[in-house]
Amino acid sequence: MGKSCDAVVIGAGLGGMSAATFLARSGKKVLLLERHHLPGGYASSFRRGRFEFDISLHVLSGVGLPEKRGRLYEYLDFLGVARKLKFLPLKELYRVVDDRIDITLPPDWEGSIDRLCGFFPAEAEKIREFFALMKQLARDLSGVFVAAGRKASDLTPECFPVFARYGMKTYGEILDRFFRDEDLKSAVSPFWSYLGLPPSKIPFHMMASCWDALLKQHPVHIRGRNQALSNAFIETLTECGGEVRFGCGARRIVLKDGAVRAVITDEDEEVATNVVVSNASIPSTLSDLVGTEQVPETYRRQVNSRQIGFSTVNIYAGLDCPPEAVGATVHENFIDFGSRIEETWQTAHTLAPPRGMLFTSYTASDPEFSPPGTSVIVMTAASYARPWYLVPPERYVEEKTTFAASMLDRAERYFPGLRAHLEVVEVATPLTNMRYTGNPGGTIYGFDQYLSDSGLLRLQNRAPIGGLYFASAWTLPGGGYQTCMTSGFLAGRMALKKLERGGS
Ligand SMILES: Cc1cc2nc3c(=O)[nH]c(=O)nc-3n(C[C@H](O)[C@H](O)[C@H](O)COP(=O)(O)OP(=O)(O)OC[C@H]3O[C@@H](n4cnc5c(N)ncnc54)[C@H](O)[C@@H]3O)c2cc1C
Repeated sequence: MGKSCDAVVIGAGLGGMSAATFLARSGKKVLLLERHHLPGGYASSFRRGRFEFDISLHVLSGVGLPEKRGRLYEYLDFLGVARKLKFLPLKELYRVVDDRIDITLPPDWEGSIDRLCGFFPAEAEKIREFFALMKQLARDLSGVFVAAGRKASDLTPECFPVFARYGMKTYGEILDRFFRDEDLKSAVSPFWSYLGLPPSKIPFHMMASCWDALLKQHPVHIRGRNQALSNAFIETLTECGGEVRFGCGARRIVLKDGAVRAVITDEDEEVATNVVVSNASIPSTLSDLVGTEQVPETYRRQVNSRQIGFSTVNIYAGLDCPPEAVGATVHENFIDFGSRIEETWQTAHTLAPPRGMLFTSYTASDPEFSPPGTSVIVMTAASYARPWYLVPPERYVEEKTTFAASMLDRAERYFPGLRAHLEVVEVATPLTNMRYTGNPGGTIYGFDQYLSDSGLLRLQNRAPIGGLYFASAWTLPGGGYQTCMTSGFLAGRMALKKLERGGS
């Protein structure tokens, strides 16, 4: 007889590891298949020379400090993952710097508000109102999700008045309504890059949730890099009896009568199961694993009408000096994001030098991040994959090098001496992201999170195919660390209910 299990989870990115661990912790027999040779998807790390780089994590929300833990910490604690990790509180929320402003915000609501009021005293009252509104909106949005989850009758405008009024506005609309000073608008906008669209397009409720997630509980990083989180998931999963196979992907999801019956692995083994949680992208799950012809037409149209979100160009740099030597003392820096956000986003659709970027100084927040007397810096620019697809293979290295050189030029303006201290440099483009994670376009947040594809309008964790669930950046609640782990919980919980109901 062939192998069988309660659930097969496809992909060991954050969504997949979270779903697999949740199901194994709940007593189910789980097989996790990962095509890469290590766990994490984007949540992994790599070595070059004497440096080890975080591929993705800049800031982790939802964990907080021991005296005030957040939802994500509680979930990781329930799974048994949290106790394997050491979380490092960040000293600052971010620094935003361009040729007009240079402002560093502390990692708490009141401190951030006070700092902004100090810089923009003429708009202090509005700043306080704006932040109060964001808090209310984030609270309403959580309530909306809870009410929708239990299909409650109280999902009405009267019960969630702030969401009803502001839920379909963009961040840009609200900024224009509240503030006159363009520099102030710039100073409160960098999180657009954590969500993937500029203020004119990103839903206000998403930005409000992002602020809330990062300020309600203290933002942290992880000792041992994002790989420590992924390793802790895998260790916990195996402790709970789950099985993991690396270097072995899923090649096909077998359906019978419109429901999942088995998974065929890259090694041609057929594993019988009635439940699959896919952490692979939704488009590739449907087209490559299920087969487009087996997907209901209406759902296919819903998927095809969405836009694939942005990817990144990253420069991973090991410096032969401590971070202070180049002035990189703040963990997260948004360079030239200021008044040019819309242009920065437009430019991300081309191979032109990026207008603004993130500059993350890991050793500044964790002296153990790199060998003594050195530092690790990662520079990140938003970039869509399409222009990279069009580069002929023989010109790829040249384009990549030119692009990276323009980023270094920009960084050098604010961190003089950076270039002279580069010991190790590795550059990744959207094509690199795509190659390592299988995400179409190398996107880091799944579908672009427009108003029409955010909140409750995002594609659900349950597919319209019996026994198939999604856990990744592509589905509810969206891209990012906390959200992807939450998607794993949501998909895992639905799958568990199905398994406990029994039947097919
Ligand atoms: C440079 C960068 C910086 C970022 N910074 C932050 C940050 O500071 N904070 C934050 O919250 N988020 C950040 N993000 C975003 C965050 O990393 C992602 O949204 C999140 O990790 C995506 O997780 P996922 O669950 O969608 O899985 P993914 O990471 O997309 O992984 C999917 C996995 O599925 C596997 N797979 C695919 N197909 C198959 C198959 N057929 N069979 C088996 N396995 C398969 C892949 O190999 C991969 O391991 C950043 C991302 C990047 C790239």
